[in-house]
Amino acid sequence: MNKSLARILALVLILSMLPFSALADTPSAQELAEGYIAVLSGLEWGTAGATLKTAAAAGEVCAFAERYGLYDLDADALQANLRAAYDDMGEDGQAAFWAGFDAVRALIDDCLEDDEANHSLFEDAGAAETMNSVMCDPLNRLAWENLRDCTLSMRNDEGMPGAADPAAAEKIDYLALVNKLHPLPKGWEDALETVTITNSLGDEVEVETRAYAAYLLLKTDLEENDGIYLELDSARRSVAAQQDIMDRFTQKYGADYAAKTVATPGYSEHHTGLALDLYFRIKNDDGTFTDVYYNEDMTRPEYEGLWATVHAKLADYGFILRYLPDKEYITGYGYEPWHIRYIDNADMAKEIMAQPGMTLEKWLGAAADAGATVDYGTSELYTPEELKEAAVQVKCRFASFAGCELHTLRYAGDDCNTEENLAWMNQLDEGKGYVQVAEFISDFHSPIQPGDDEAWEADKEYTNWQWWLARTADGGWQLLTWGY
Ligand SMILES: [Zn+2]
Repeated sequence: MNKSLARILALVLILSMLPFSALADTPSAQELAEGYIAVLSGLEWGTAGATLKTAAAAGEVCAFAERYGLYDLDADALQANLRAAYDDMGEDGQAAFWAGFDAVRALIDDCLEDDEANHSLFEDAGAAETMNSVMCDPLNRLAWENLRDCTLSMRNDEGMPGAADPAAAEKIDYLALVNKLHPLPKGWEDALETVTITNSLGDEVEVETRAYAAYLLLKTDLEENDGIYLELDSARRSVAAQQDIMDRFTQKYGADYAAKTVATPGYSEHHTGLALDLYFRIKNDDGTFTDVYYNEDMTRPEYEGLWATVHAKLADYGFILRYLPDKEYITGYGYEPWHIRYIDNADMAKEIMAQPGMTLEKWLGAAADAGATVDYGTSELYTPEELKEAAVQVKCRFASFAGCELHTLRYAGDDCNTEENLAWMNQLDEGKGYVQVAEFISDFHSPIQPGDDEAWEADKEYTNWQWWLARTADGGWQLLTWGY
């Protein structure tokens, strides 16, 4: 079923349950707000009961406007009412209000603007017809437009989140995978709708609209029930901003250093606007707050319980923890308790979070099974940490071998660091001035049914597959080539 259709059905089902007749002719601000909230909070669960009773339900939408006399109220009065009610809602209610409003707006506006589109939104031609005629009644149209415009102009006031095109919710893929191997999808930045807020440190933070609404719900829940005060450290960074940083670092420190320390523009999950870096505030005895935002502070053992509480609630609001302990070889990053990702689907988030060690890569099937333990052997040249860093590069790359299963990965031994091999590496990546070489060897199994664009022989054990890395005098490992 069309997602928007499910939403409007949910909306109208809830509307039809509201005790309209018990209310006075002209609604108070409180009544308006309660009506909205009742509608909006039912958007998700209501879909379960959505059957095509659209004809009657559409009538209810209009009856709602009519009973409240929304088209009789002058715009200024309506806006003042809405504004007063909004201020009383609390963050919780406000977030739900905006998330739902956009969904409702998208659908009703579609009905009003385009008869053809309207028909395509509904599976039942008869229902579409009725919805159409109800929504095209000038009085109903006026009622809706008045309410919509007042709500929108209220949002355009300073500090209101998400003056967004409601259709944007359909344009971006909330499950998009962006990591060191998968770039930001094309067209993303054009489709993205964001809000910009100021955090407790006075920094501006830009977040995707729906992710922000969900974050507010999470934050409120944790404050009210657990006494944990979350803040947003950073969320969206544009590709251009990342390129700027890369350029400045390159100019100042050289390309090598820049490549090592700055994430490649286009390959950071923060580009999506759906990745949020959290920090928290500790409430002091005198009621003041202390910000805790440095990575080394946030990861102190005394805060493990705090993070566990936060993580346990992420999925309820459609978030997952993205960079898990010991999964660097899949995600490309070490453990980051503060980095969460919005996927706009609480049920799926719960499934992911319920499985220990489940990464988004693996969930989406993009990651091959690269969980094999590594045999580092013995080395006079490299410390175990240095070899581990190299192995991570290999496993990261292996993770892009869709459907392959890594069985073993072993360091080939110090004999690989020959002048000949070094020359080869420097020939592969000219001008870098590599000074050392490391070779790893692996056995893995190809997929039973490889995809069309993959060169694997089906269902075969590939043994002694080589991985070649090199590094400069001050640099980290660079994986330069692999294969036979
Ligand atoms: Zn982050």
